[in-house]
Amino acid sequence: MTLKFLDEFRDPALAQRLAAAIHAEVDPARAYRLMEFCGGHTHAIFRYGIAQLLPPNLRFIHGPGCPVCVLPIARLDHALALATEHDVTLCSYGDLLRVPASKRRSLLKIKAEGADIRVIYSTQDALQIARANPDRQIVLFAIGFETTTPPTAVALHIARAEQLRNFSVFCNHVLTPAALRCILGDVAPNRVQLDGILGPSHVSAVIGTHPYDFVAQEYQLPVVVTGFEPLDVLQAVLMLVRQCNAGRCAVENQYTRAVTAEGNRKAQALMAAAFDIRETFAWRGLGELPRSGLQLAADFADFDAEQRFAVTPGATKEIAGCECPAILRGMKQPPECKLFGRVCRPENPLGACMVSSEGACAAYWRYRRSE
Ligand code: SF4
Repeated sequence: MTLKFLDEFRDPALAQRLAAAIHAEVDPARAYRLMEFCGGHTHAIFRYGIAQLLPPNLRFIHGPGCPVCVLPIARLDHALALATEHDVTLCSYGDLLRVPASKRRSLLKIKAEGADIRVIYSTQDALQIARANPDRQIVLFAIGFETTTPPTAVALHIARAEQLRNFSVFCNHVLTPAALRCILGDVAPNRVQLDGILGPSHVSAVIGTHPYDFVAQEYQLPVVVTGFEPLDVLQAVLMLVRQCNAGRCAVENQYTRAVTAEGNRKAQALMAAAFDIRETFAWRGLGELPRSGLQLAADFADFDAEQRFAVTPGATKEIAGCECPAILRGMKQPPECKLFGRVCRPENPLGACMVSSEGACAAYWRYRRSE
């Protein structure tokens, strides 16, 4: 059976034709350094061997778009403290469970010690657990970029409508444009040299393409929003090469089957009602970024786990030798970390970039460790 929008975007013959077009149009006298913002693109590039199809002077640089990877250890410590100090039921997506917190603790370890940690597949699961357990406090550990923010907003609206008083949200949602602005605004020696950006399609389906206009206008860099199938990525690379060659800097949309310039207005309205922008939020690797994270709006303060439960997480301890911060900034590649493959592997991850299914270290280990 052929799956529409899937098999047709994995066609090997079309991939070869796109790769040939890129080879024909790439100028051998210059470099093309393209940052894929999102970890989903990183995995697509490795999984389908896209880099090997392209000329050597065209290089991918991995960006910070992995929600698990950019969650700072302090926020993870906070979640652990919520689960242990208050005897709440903490609902989390599965890829957070093994991420090391301070002192090598994790959600999985405290679950083994008796904490009530539940793996959920959607925010609706957390609501259902709250309905089924009216005598327990249920906390949704909410993380992610604009892709996963609307479902959290929907859960909050439902919880308020149903007056689910035993439900609350520990909010760690972050904003894509703020992270891009941080990376592009860095100064030497932290500034990564780029010639173009591959923008994430799932985030852009929500926010649209307009929020990237500043990248083209202020930083003179071309942007192409693209999907996660191999033909999507190859076509976006060709579009970026053409912009680079023409000296153009525009925001273009390869993923027209789901992304518009304005985005999903209904989702934006739900988010705007449920969340306010924090003055500042700490990111792993990028540090404190102004107006880069969300908190619950005043209308939803009754559902804010940070207000409902005071915690004392203690001092945060970073993982010695872990290069996740430099990798998330595009300054280093995973094999440049001394721990990569020696002590840090998927079965014994030391940093978030090796745990997460979207992490760059996990992608290198899975697809390119033999190189
Ligand atoms: S290999 Fe492990 S320790 Fe090194 S940067 Fe990646 S996640 Fe961190």
